[in-house]
Amino acid sequence: MLPHVSPEVGMISPRTRARMVARLRKDGIADERVLAVMAELPRHLFVAEALSSRAYEPISLPIGFGQTISQPWVVARMLEVLLREVAPQRVLEIGTGSGYHAALLAMLGMEVFSIERIEALQRRAAATLGKLGLRPHLRHGDGALGWPERAPFDAIVFTAAVPCALPPLFAQLRPGGILLMPMEEDGQQRLCLRRWDGARIQEQDLGPCHFVPLLAGTVSLSQEDTTWIR
Ligand code: SAH
Repeated sequence: MLPHVSPEVGMISPRTRARMVARLRKDGIADERVLAVMAELPRHLFVAEALSSRAYEPISLPIGFGQTISQPWVVARMLEVLLREVAPQRVLEIGTGSGYHAALLAMLGMEVFSIERIEALQRRAAATLGKLGLRPHLRHGDGALGWPERAPFDAIVFTAAVPCALPPLFAQLRPGGILLMPMEEDGQQRLCLRRWDGARIQEQDLGPCHFVPLLAGTVSLSQEDTTWIR
């Protein structure tokens, strides 16, 4: 259950969310825990107000700064895989973006650490999550480096496409932990699951996907147009 739900949440009826969840179910999402948190979390609070009415459609949407919030099915699928594979308690997310995915992870009872390279997005996500009473650990930084001070994690989830050459973050996983990441090679992206057993890596291909790219370095507030922060 969400600790706080602000009055503006009422603007879009829970029935709209219920329709989104019915579509997810029809499209193969079966984990009731995932469906329940997606039925509860007001996704429209994570996109610009002008797009609120489209927030529950099966599409990805812009969140400013050239970034996007993934379509509901992709988020649901990643959560379902995560719960099935490792039932994590401590999760590191790379690419906080709007904070939607981080919010769902937190609502599923995980301790969430999330890194975002664009400071304005990171601040806006912190504000949105705070309004809902959710308090994942957020950090402005380059997620390619992970968060070594807070390791080990049960899972590390990338929500931006990782180039094959990126050094893996296995050192920040507990043995048995997983990396869930869109991997990009020759312009093609595949969702990839890698399990680290402390000595060996097992890899599973979960099919094609489409994410914005993981980019190096950080962008601070002074370098951006911050008018979109609400
Ligand atoms: N999980 C997000 C989706 C974000 S889109 C949500 O629920 O809204 C991917 C995000 O990854 C973007 O916000 C982008 O700025 C961020 N990103 C890209 N490269 C990064 C990096 N190296 N470190 C941290 N964040 C990064």
